[in-house]
Amino acid sequence: MTTFPALFVSHGAPTLILDDVPARDFLGRVGGELGRPRAIVVVSAHYAAQTVKVTAHDAPPTIHDFRGFPEALYRMTYPAPGAPDLAADIVARVSAAGLPAALDTDWGFDHGTWVPLMLMYPEADIPVVAVSVNPDGDPATHARLGEALAPLRAEGVLVVASGSFTHNLFEIPRPRRLTGGDTPAWVTEFAAWLSETIVDGRAEDMLDYRARAPHAERNHPTDEHLLPLFAAWGAGGRGAGRRLHSSNTLGVLQMDAYAFG
Ligand code: ZN
Repeated sequence: MTTFPALFVSHGAPTLILDDVPARDFLGRVGGELGRPRAIVVVSAHYAAQTVKVTAHDAPPTIHDFRGFPEALYRMTYPAPGAPDLAADIVARVSAAGLPAALDTDWGFDHGTWVPLMLMYPEADIPVVAVSVNPDGDPATHARLGEALAPLRAEGVLVVASGSFTHNLFEIPRPRRLTGGDTPAWVTEFAAWLSETIVDGRAEDMLDYRARAPHAERNHPTDEHLLPLFAAWGAGGRGAGRRLHSSNTLGVLQMDAYAFG
């Protein structure tokens, strides 16, 4: 059975699915390049919980967890089946790793889950389980969460952690340009530091990025969109990552993707 790498992907704005940008093209081809997993586990920045929650529906609902976007987005659904048995297995593994975890039949596929998956696996016929992020948690805890998921990779399961490499929506440069506008130096400097840190496998620097990376707070005023990165890193075995993609939208959203393991 194929052992898949663990991925970190940047999902950008919900409109990524509509926008003609390089990150959409990347997500549109990476599923085909990886091949077809038995199931997909998505750690989503938009699934927020203090303890680890794991979606346990047979048929999870698509959640349109955004406001003020084009009508077409609200009609989109991602009707992939759930995988309650896999969800129970994940709760057991995460609990055994010392992190409180529970099955969840309230949540479904938020846009951190369905936007990348609709591009990666548009047929929506592979079972999907979503796993939450703790916005008050730290990188080390999310690395442990990822580590608990690591053995699934050898069982034909693709682990995708979905967030954003940079994510300061308060400082989108004007005029607003999807691509080709100015990327502020505080974005490029942070992204370059983090990319090098990942590719060089500097674990201590990664885990302490908020203190050590240039402009960390400005790029991530809150860090829930970067926390999935550490889950992917843990799921990949805590080694160096490979950069699969790098691009920028709106000046402040660095759309980079990495593979671990
Ligand atoms: Zn997001």
